[in-house]
Amino acid sequence: MAAVLDRRDPFAVLNAEQRAAAEHGVGDASAPALLVVAGAGTGKTATLAARVAKLVLAGADPQRVLLLTFSRRAAHEMAQRAARLLHAALGLPPTLAAPQLPWAGTFHAVAARLLREHAPRIGLAPAFTIVDRGDAEDLMGLVRHEQGLAASARRFPLKGRCLAIYSRAVNTREPVEAVVRHAFPWCLGWEDELRRLFAAYVAEKQRQQLLDYDDLLLYWQLLLDEPSLAGAVRARFDHVLVDEYQDTNRLQAAIVRGLKPDGRGLTVVGDDAQAIYGFRGAELRHILDFPRQFEPPARVVTLTRNYRSTQPLLAAANAVVALAPEGFAKSLWSDRDGERPRLVAVADEAAQARWVADEVLRRREEGLALKQQAVLFRAAQHSAALELELARRDIPFVKYGGLAFLEAAHVKDLLSVLRWVHNPRHRLAGLRVAQLVPGMGPAHARRLVDAMAQSGDPVQAMHDFDAPRAAATDWAAWLAAAAALRTGDWPGDVACALQWYRPHLERLHDDAAVRLADLEQLARLAAGYPSRERFLAELTLDPPQATSDEAGAPHRDEDWLVLSTIHAAKGQEWAALCVLHAVDGCIPSDLATGSAAEIEEERRLLYVAMTRAKRHLALLVPQRFHVTAQHRLGDRHVWASLTRFVPPSVAALFDVETAVTDAAAAEGGAACTGAAVDLAARARAAF
Ligand code: ATP
Ligand code: MG
Repeated sequence: MAAVLDRRDPFAVLNAEQRAAAEHGVGDASAPALLVVAGAGTGKTATLAARVAKLVLAGADPQRVLLLTFSRRAAHEMAQRAARLLHAALGLPPTLAAPQLPWAGTFHAVAARLLREHAPRIGLAPAFTIVDRGDAEDLMGLVRHEQGLAASARRFPLKGRCLAIYSRAVNTREPVEAVVRHAFPWCLGWEDELRRLFAAYVAEKQRQQLLDYDDLLLYWQLLLDEPSLAGAVRARFDHVLVDEYQDTNRLQAAIVRGLKPDGRGLTVVGDDAQAIYGFRGAELRHILDFPRQFEPPARVVTLTRNYRSTQPLLAAANAVVALAPEGFAKSLWSDRDGERPRLVAVADEAAQARWVADEVLRRREEGLALKQQAVLFRAAQHSAALELELARRDIPFVKYGGLAFLEAAHVKDLLSVLRWVHNPRHRLAGLRVAQLVPGMGPAHARRLVDAMAQSGDPVQAMHDFDAPRAAATDWAAWLAAAAALRTGDWPGDVACALQWYRPHLERLHDDAAVRLADLEQLARLAAGYPSRERFLAELTLDPPQATSDEAGAPHRDEDWLVLSTIHAAKGQEWAALCVLHAVDGCIPSDLATGSAAEIEEERRLLYVAMTRAKRHLALLVPQRFHVTAQHRLGDRHVWASLTRFVPPSVAALFDVETAVTDAAAAEGGAACTGAAVDLAARARAAF
């Protein structure tokens, strides 16, 4: 849309429905809520950005506009889009920036900021620390151990499972019993112990002044539930706009309602056919029930014209989702013609990787930059063979989703230093940092954090700690570094922490140079945040998914291919797209075929993947693929069959190609023309 911005009327590009949505109730504070419900690529996000611009042009204060998006990247893009429109509409000279939108972000990031402001009034320490999933899991593990549940005669659910149950109970606002019965039936019988564990987990978090991801939403919602506080929170925003509303969970939906109880000033957009976060407790019902929640009911605007993809690609995507047993059939149309999507059978993962690399280079020769192309897959590990192939051929790529930058030990170490200094009661950070000091073992570290927890002045307790003799010099060096860090000099703190950490990094890791580059990257990232607190909070909430995600200027004009999980590709688009492993066992994932609802979510995932493509789309069907040891089968190859979401009637909308060598075919691979003999399932059933 940027390309067609008209300086006189940047909104001229909007079609009638988009315009109606963008202008709904602008300037009329009594207008009812607005729901834009429409299929992929119909311009929902573009319309939302236009609406923000229209509101600001009509006098809305950008400081009082809240824009809730699915990721920080999406927030940034939407804010930029709105700013570009405003810039053009106001006829500003290039040197003058358009009004910014300071309140654009994810639910979690916005919650963190609001809670920080309200902390003193709601019994939270203003310096509270946000813990990521990994740390929350470790904390759950500690509490589980302390509660004696680790030693039960019958095997008690592991820490990760406990956290999943807890998180689901919080996000769906359902009692533990109901959550276990519906989502974790194999944990039945442990409800009393789980409730006891969760109560202890909550108490422990409060003692350490920690909030996990779920707490951020929970406290925000509690804030809105408390009559003496809700007014102030509500009064803060005149307009609340939410993108990708189909993926909100019950807690998020309650927050949205709590912010605008009568719906006035509220806009949500989404697509029920793209709901892919049910596994995190999101409920399709929220978008379907939205209009009737308010009095007067919300205005509903639907969009059916797709501006992203060609008609043959849409026909295939429509056909995939049309086979869903329930849902709101929305048939997308486009006036752009083009080639049909391709269904490509390849022998195995290595052949798949070679085919994709060839294809990507071929398209580049045709003039499509790498950045206009992407490769999507269901699970992060599905791209392993392709990553090797791309590296071998020197094709630069960036991978989104699943790359746990923040999980890397060295990144965790450095962040723990900053976290511990920021919140001396942060036990996990303390345990981690203390043990970096040579001579400090786990028992010493525990003694130290216990002493700090029990003291009214934890910093003093750290200085008074009687470190073991072997650690004396290094401990003194830490105390000096901690003192320097406490005086706070943002973003210089990161360099200061790195200066202390560097010798330990070099002592602990053979590949210190590579890791150092990551940490320098982290320091560059830090410079983009106004304070240590915002940096720690936002990084924890929405971690950069790839090291180059927020890379600075030097990388900006380089060209690279995007590799992404389907989940992380939400809302985006590329001219050419390959989808890996379009086979049963991968899509749908054999880890997610427990219930009909899960299967339907996998179907929508394939739909989301296919609707990211503008002009070229290929689904790859390896005849044989590798199954890793996390499956009960152990490490081995299994024969695959085309995904069940592309039965022969749908396959007829594709061009079917076979890149399988005769030898591989003779070995017994199932045909990929929709025969759908689920050998993977048969192999599983053998155990
Ligand atoms: P998704 O469901 O995948 O999030 P969406 O409905 O949010 O998709 P957008 O990403 O807003 O769709 O738009 C899809 C593409 O169509 C973008 O490239 C956008 O710039 C373009 N587009 C949207 N509206 C128009 C229009 N009226 N004229 C021309 N192009 C448009
Ligand atoms: Mg969108």
